[in-house]
Amino acid sequence: MAAVAAAADVAVIGLGGLGSATAYWLARRGVSVVGYEQFELGHLRGASHDHSRIIRRSYHTPEYVRLAAAAYDAWRAVEAESRQRMITITGGVDLFPPNAAIDHRTYTASLDAEHVPYEWIDGAEIRRRWPAFAAGEIVTDDVMGVYSPQTGIVPAGPGTRVMQQLAVARGANLRGNSPVRAIRPIDGEVDIVTDDGVVRVGSVVVTADAWTNRLLRDLDLQIPLAVLQEQVSYFPQADLGPFAVGSFPVWIWMDDPSFYGFPVFGDMTAVKGAEDCGGREVDPDTRTFDPDAAMEQRLGAFMQRLAGGQWATPRTTTCLYTLTSDRDFVLDRLPGYPQVSVALGAAHGFKFASWFGRSLAGLACGEPAGRELAPFAFTRESLHRPIDRAAWMV
Ligand SMILES: Cc1cc2nc3c(=O)[nH]c(=O)nc-3n(C[C@H](O)[C@H](O)[C@H](O)COP(=O)(O)OP(=O)(O)OC[C@H]3O[C@@H](n4cnc5c(N)ncnc54)[C@H](O)[C@@H]3O)c2cc1C
Repeated sequence: MAAVAAAADVAVIGLGGLGSATAYWLARRGVSVVGYEQFELGHLRGASHDHSRIIRRSYHTPEYVRLAAAAYDAWRAVEAESRQRMITITGGVDLFPPNAAIDHRTYTASLDAEHVPYEWIDGAEIRRRWPAFAAGEIVTDDVMGVYSPQTGIVPAGPGTRVMQQLAVARGANLRGNSPVRAIRPIDGEVDIVTDDGVVRVGSVVVTADAWTNRLLRDLDLQIPLAVLQEQVSYFPQADLGPFAVGSFPVWIWMDDPSFYGFPVFGDMTAVKGAEDCGGREVDPDTRTFDPDAAMEQRLGAFMQRLAGGQWATPRTTTCLYTLTSDRDFVLDRLPGYPQVSVALGAAHGFKFASWFGRSLAGLACGEPAGRELAPFAFTRESLHRPIDRAAWMV
């Protein structure tokens, strides 16, 4: 099939949160962008749909703590241009029971290293501040919390849509129901193979998350990835008051299994909770969308111990986690193909989506990768280790 003329300077493959942000930041530079999404824009089959995602400065390494500041900044730019709020500050508490599977010192030391304010509080203080926890049984006095006042919520589906709208408003050409079948680097440029033919672009950004290895296969490059079918549940409660923003924080239970949850926010009419890495491995193309009843029960039982009361019959939504071996991001040019960049959020990337977009736009325009991207190199040894679930407990 003969290549047609250059369609754009840059092609973005995959228009979830990361790809939509990339299209926006490229268009913001005045670069001509064509974006390809295999499903309809705003679909529910990947990782960037649903209501809300946690944004936080509290992380297990100083690098992530530092980068998270840039993540907030990059969302603020989207807010300024869209005149829509992206970040809702709620406060957040990372909960560490005695002998927790996740070492609290990785968090407190990282926050200290970056001079980011937080409080180290005990279970009694946690219950005093957020009475919903007092109705439960597991936030005992010896449970400690890292309280981060900057923690908040960013809207997954709506945020992705806003970035798509901003990109299109600045001239980006975003195509839904347009699967890319292959990418072929040639003469420093790239041929994109679609069902409509072959187009040539100057460079490509691959933000295909669970489907990444399918596109890298033709380039003889693969990354060990685990795709899990995760789910979030919305539990109806007779009284939502104790769970409202201001009365209830974003919380993360830092143990194995690990759970997390949100205050009631926006048009939510139920309390959201979920388990981290509790899902089974799936193929993103053949998976079902059926909630896992055992996961729902496990979560319901945990919510009851956390906040008392009844936690049954939730509405549950499934979603895909794409995990790297070391659970660190990938954000780099491909070895041997400088005109092809790739990014993976390693199942904690949405808070960084606009930052990913800003960084990938720079790479796609030939700018050197900054030092802050070194931990996310494609060639790092830890990325190519076999998958080991224990490495995800961070
Ligand atoms: C339940 C759950 C909770 C989470 N909670 C948080 C949280 O609190 N905070 C946080 O920061 N992160 C969180 N994450 C992680 C975060 O949502 C993801 O890291 C992020 O959304 C990944 O975005 P993406 O654009 O890379 O992936 P996706 O949104 O999956 O986008 C990839 C896109 O590429 C498309 N595509 C693939 N192959 C092709 C092709 N060949 N041609 C065209 N299109 C293609 C796909 O259809 C898809 O739309 C959570 C994820 C889940 C599932």
